[in-house]
Amino acid sequence: MIDLHCHSTYSDGRHSPEELILKAQANGLQCLALTDHDTTSGLDDLHAAGKRLAADITLINGIELSVGWRTHVIHILGLNLKNYQRLDAVINQQNENRIHRAEQISHALGACGVEDAYDKARELAGHERVGRPHFAQVLVNEKKARDFQGAFRQYLGRGRQAYVPTAWMSAEEAVAAIHDAEGLAVIAHPLKYGLTRTKLHELIRLFKDAGGDGIEVVSGEMTPVQIQEIAGLCLRFDLLASSGSDFHGDALSRISLGRQAQLPVNCKPIWHDWTI
Ligand code: MN
Ligand code: MN
Ligand code: MN
Repeated sequence: MIDLHCHSTYSDGRHSPEELILKAQANGLQCLALTDHDTTSGLDDLHAAGKRLAADITLINGIELSVGWRTHVIHILGLNLKNYQRLDAVINQQNENRIHRAEQISHALGACGVEDAYDKARELAGHERVGRPHFAQVLVNEKKARDFQGAFRQYLGRGRQAYVPTAWMSAEEAVAAIHDAEGLAVIAHPLKYGLTRTKLHELIRLFKDAGGDGIEVVSGEMTPVQIQEIAGLCLRFDLLASSGSDFHGDALSRISLGRQAQLPVNCKPIWHDWTI
């Protein structure tokens, strides 16, 4: 079993890299990629933990980059990054964008009666690169929203008072940066962007033309029908197939590490030539 998409406390996950390895072992995984949002800062910790635990599991360097495409934010995974230090420049730029957005969201939430939302979100996250889920948690804690969905519906989602778009890098830039770091670029969870089929095909075409390598055919809670559809696109656009749970923590994710569905046999796994 393999899981090429999960998050640690270095982004918005609930578990440390060490806890993820322990969970991966308990779930019988052979291979785990850590793909935190716009950061590689958990990777040294991941490998150190792997050594400490003498874990019999292949640990893969990954990242999940936020990318702007038209009015959408798309996630592109960088997998099997052999030289991930080379991503530092784009990561720094993304961080600046993210911090700037967090300040704006905080300001907008101030107008909704939530004081110092950025400070509170930062405290929850344990770092300053906070994302909307952290603000959602602040809203829940402050009793401004009943749950995460409510926080997005009432405040943080597109068109709401505290919605702030970010100037993310382009898909082409993400692919180039991932290749520069000697990794493989993969479109994450293609059905999570609310794109029409026409738009989804346009996105995949642009990604493929930019040299993109793969697509996440199996991600988290996809249904068998959805998996078949993306498998079809994977074959049609001659992409490699990836598979990951997008696990963020037991309280946040219904699918545990490595417990996503099987990759359809007609797809070529992105790990086909890795030593795992
Ligand atoms: Mn996340
Ligand atoms: Mn994502
Ligand atoms: Mn993710």
